[in-house]
Amino acid sequence: MIFTLFSQNSFAKCEVTLTGNDQMQFDLKKIEVPGSCKKFKINLKHSGKLTKQVMGHNVVISKTEDMTEITQKAMAVGIKGDYVPKDSKVLAASKLVGGGEHTTLSVDIGKFKKGEKYTFFCSFPGHYALMKGDFLIK
Ligand code: ZN
Repeated sequence: MIFTLFSQNSFAKCEVTLTGNDQMQFDLKKIEVPGSCKKFKINLKHSGKLTKQVMGHNVVISKTEDMTEITQKAMAVGIKGDYVPKDSKVLAASKLVGGGEHTTLSVDIGKFKKGEKYTFFCSFPGHYALMKGDFLIK
């Protein structure tokens, strides 16, 4: 129970932990950012065992309307570029990780507006259908 309280407490701060697994799922469907945060840290963990070539996960954030275009461009980029296109529509993107690995992404909240619709997703080919959620500025 102490653990639960502790994690809620850290959620109110400017960071969150997001976990991806071998079943192509994230453990969060929504990430809420307190409006007071200038930077927001996402700790991405891969709890599975599969390699990043097979089941790689990253976290990319864009306006919801730009997600499909970014995922199409990501396929052309390939794994060497972590499936992240060099495009201004990509507002934040982490490295690609495989099973047992983790990475950290620092998101510049200055690029985001309250009321706009944003989505976080994994840009590994095919994963965004399941691995996505709302990124909300409160
Ligand atoms: Zn993925």
